[in-house]
Amino acid sequence: MIKVVLFDCDSTLSAVEGINLLARRAGMEAAIAPLTRAAMDGRLPLEEVYRRRLALIRPRREDVDWLGAQYIAGIVPGAVEVVAALQQSGRTVHIVSGGLKPAVLALAGRFGVPAAQVHAVDVFFDDAGNYAGFDESSPLAGSGGKAEICRRLKLKPGEAVLVGDGATDLEAAHAGVTVIGFGGVARREAMVRRADAYIEGPSLLPVLNVILTPRERGNIRTGE
Ligand SMILES: [Mg+2]
Repeated sequence: MIKVVLFDCDSTLSAVEGINLLARRAGMEAAIAPLTRAAMDGRLPLEEVYRRRLALIRPRREDVDWLGAQYIAGIVPGAVEVVAALQQSGRTVHIVSGGLKPAVLALAGRFGVPAAQVHAVDVFFDDAGNYAGFDESSPLAGSGGKAEICRRLKLKPGEAVLVGDGATDLEAAHAGVTVIGFGGVARREAMVRRADAYIEGPSLLPVLNVILTPRERGNIRTGE
């Protein structure tokens, strides 16, 4: 039985791609977007683009707070219902993201996911709120990070599922985690081909059909 469900953030729980929004706000969109796409499609290693993107954007504290509000405004249809149903049925929900932790924590709060179950990349500011670097020791700022987080959680074979849209989400399979692809925001061919299950979208509600038992599904009301 599935006991732990991990969700990607960008283009999965929220329709937003955070780094692209920050880039647009900083007037850097044209420089950043192709790097992001290459990383997510698996054509460039994440660690190679991660530092360069942030070094260009240099997000201030107020920008990251703003991004948290954008994540919440962009919550994907069905996401709140799915997370609530999973938690009510006794599953532990985590958010595993290469995004910036303060913004992902803001979204997690909306879902009632505790901070200890939020895995993302911390970002630092000076006293004036200026960008002062990110947590370069975080595995989530590089390739293979989601598999590493899964290993640290000591998940048992067959008890965990990760729901996501991109190449970094597929890496969780290396840690014995079942991968459910979600194409409701962004359809990526690598995920369509390699995921254990694939949801076309636009709603996340079908995730419950994959994870919950038929008996459990009969006991919930999702508004579908
Ligand atoms: Mg994503």
